Amino acid sequence: MKNLQNALQLKQLYQLKSLGYHYTNAQLFAQEDEPLELPNTLVDLKKQAQNCHLCFLSKGRNRVVFGEGSQNTKVMFIGDAPIEIEDRAGEPFLGRGGEMLTLMIEKVLGLSREEVYITNLLKCHPSSTQVLHESTMHSCKAYLFKEIELVQPQVIVTLGEMPYHYLTNDTTALKEIRGMVSKRGGYMVVPTYHPNFLLKNPSLKKEVFLDLQKVKGLLLL
Ligand code: SF4
Repeated sequence: MKNLQNALQLKQLYQLKSLGYHYTNAQLFAQEDEPLELPNTLVDLKKQAQNCHLCFLSKGRNRVVFGEGSQNTKVMFIGDAPIEIEDRAGEPFLGRGGEMLTLMIEKVLGLSREEVYITNLLKCHPSSTQVLHESTMHSCKAYLFKEIELVQPQVIVTLGEMPYHYLTNDTTALKEIRGMVSKRGGYMVVPTYHPNFLLKNPSLKKEVFLDLQKVKGLLLL
């Protein structure tokens, strides 16, 4: 059945291409109740994401930025989307924000960066002029949910508002819920600020420090 749907969608895409379209809105083909068929290993999932053209972000990306780290970890960090330097390198959380995240993991959790899993909601870098639509997140979040299923973390730390909203469907402002622990399925979620936001608002570092101390406590349970 899925193969038939894929064939029909491919046919529609070729028809659109013949009419002069190079990209189309993923919402046109959105199958709310029909999740993407995704591989059952992180290696194969990464390969599939690297060839993904489900949304318009594939048009401007240099590299797909898939998650990295340990599959046998208890803690996963989820940011929103890769920035330019990460788009060029194909790795998540580089630059000053990435250095800050690494320091927080080491100093507060007492873990190395390789001992946790780090990823983003979106796997491709949106340029400053690209407006993100609901359909963009919808297209990409299947990869994130599969990463969660494969890693099976005990605690997920969401960095910034967007990953928290998409993971929990809770649209409360981050400043009101940061540091609050909620149980979702088989894991706990702790929302906190994104390191890139902390670079612009260093006075909030203390709050993130407290949030991560809470995460450390949860990991000992
Ligand atoms: S952002 Fe996600 S859905 Fe869009 S092209 Fe990249 S991997 Fe595919």
